[in-house]
Amino acid sequence: MKVLVVGNGGREHALAWKLLQSDKIEGVVCVPGNGGTASMARCENIKLAVDDFHGIKEVALNHEIAFVVIGPEVPLAIGLADYLKQQNIRVFGPTQTGAQLESSKSWAKGFMKDVGIPTAQWGVFTEDEKTAAFEFVDRYGAPIVVKADGLAAGKGVTVAATVEEAKAAIVAAFGGQFGMAGECVVVEEFLHGQEASVLAITDGETIRPLLPAQDHKAIGEGDTGPNTGGMGVYAPAPVVTDEMMARVETEVLQRAIAGLKERGIDYCGILYAGLMISPEGEVKVLEFNCRFGDPETQAILPLLETPLDELMLACIEKRLADFPPLRWKSGASACVVMASGGYPGSYENGKTIAGLDRAADAGAIVFHAGTEVKAGELVTAGGRVLGVSAIADNFDRAFAKAYHAVNCIDFEGAYYRRDIGHRVRTI
Ligand code: ATP
Repeated sequence: MKVLVVGNGGREHALAWKLLQSDKIEGVVCVPGNGGTASMARCENIKLAVDDFHGIKEVALNHEIAFVVIGPEVPLAIGLADYLKQQNIRVFGPTQTGAQLESSKSWAKGFMKDVGIPTAQWGVFTEDEKTAAFEFVDRYGAPIVVKADGLAAGKGVTVAATVEEAKAAIVAAFGGQFGMAGECVVVEEFLHGQEASVLAITDGETIRPLLPAQDHKAIGEGDTGPNTGGMGVYAPAPVVTDEMMARVETEVLQRAIAGLKERGIDYCGILYAGLMISPEGEVKVLEFNCRFGDPETQAILPLLETPLDELMLACIEKRLADFPPLRWKSGASACVVMASGGYPGSYENGKTIAGLDRAADAGAIVFHAGTEVKAGELVTAGGRVLGVSAIADNFDRAFAKAYHAVNCIDFEGAYYRRDIGHRVRTI
């Protein structure tokens, strides 16, 4: 069978790579894909925008696709899964109402409160309620977090160190900094601790957690500087202990799925809980995402032994309860992101990428994000360019392998953090 993967990031390259390892998969079609998916055997890119619903439907029908996997949040939030299902095309990914968990932070917070999922204290305000928003900030004091309600490509969150900064972020959001996404803001209590991501796969009834992962969002070493889409990740993250994972499963994931079901939302796909773990081991949900994480996927999937297509089909066909336990390789997985110089600010594209063969010889799996093939040459085409992943029997060896491979790769202005995994490495 063939599968269609929607999206063009490192996550989608990893999904296509993993799907192609299954005996049952003849080929993968990526819309639009990137330089990495273009160069994989049995994988074809078709250049369409991810919001071209009609075009994606035509590709699915013409290629006799068994099912569609929707990678990014934006097409989920605007109803691509709903549209394809109406055309009798099978989809892995939630419908628009389910995707609200990510596309509206105020909806997600209300949902968490209603179903009893632990989360930070918060208030929701529109422009007419600016005074109340300011009062909330004054009452809680700094640090405090201001979030645009809608999708803002990871840029809509201000962790304010002062009350003034928080108020300025509220004014900026109401002033149109994030367009309609900022017409409403969530102001939230600041939580201390370590972040971790628990992604789970679900058919809307049963939920199976994947290995926990820890991303590094800041651009600079020592977790400094502005936030990015993610500069590197590892799995399984030991900060999420087995006991904590069991609690996340019952107190977060199962409550969420039961709550969605109660609201008549048939949620098939990935439910991703972004967690804050306090120094005392208390877990609160920072956010839900309605899709695979990027770059978490690039570290988690190399450890997954269960065929991904079988797992996804079990969700689509609502058979997850009868599906055998997920099988994982033992050991550790590391992923280091290589970015264009200047990212997350402005950067130049079109830089020639060299050394990928040597990186593969070093035992790494190089997932492409912002790359494209231009005139037969692989060049940079985005902020995050590559995710260099490696697995080994422990974190030291996995990171040594990943960094060795990173050092084999070259493009002008390449930037990467040298301290990814600092919490789990001894060298
Ligand atoms: P992304 O798309 O990058 O995952 P997002 O824009 O959906 O992020 P959040 O995940 O809610 O927004 O917040 C982004 C980051 O801001 C978090 O990863 C965390 O580092 C920080 N953050 C958010 N909420 C809080 C909080 N209540 N306390 C402390 N830090 C927070």
